[in-house]
Amino acid sequence: MELLVQEQDLGRVMALMGRFITEEVEEGEPPCPCCGTAAPLVKGACSDCGLQLA
Ligand SMILES: [Zn+2]
Repeated sequence: MELLVQEQDLGRVMALMGRFITEEVEEGEPPCPCCGTAAPLVKGACSDCGLQLA
C-alpha cells in the first residue's frame, strides 16, 4: 500500500490508522492495560504478564 500524505497531515493520518487498529483489536480480546497483549485470559489474568483482569 502506498500512501501519499502531506507532511502536515501525517499526524492526523497516523491517529486515524491508530484508531482503526484499536477498533480491530476490540473485535476480539481486549488488550492488557499493562503489557498490551490481546490474548484470552488465563483464569481471569493476562496470559503474558499475569495481571488480574477479571
Ligand atoms: Zn499483560
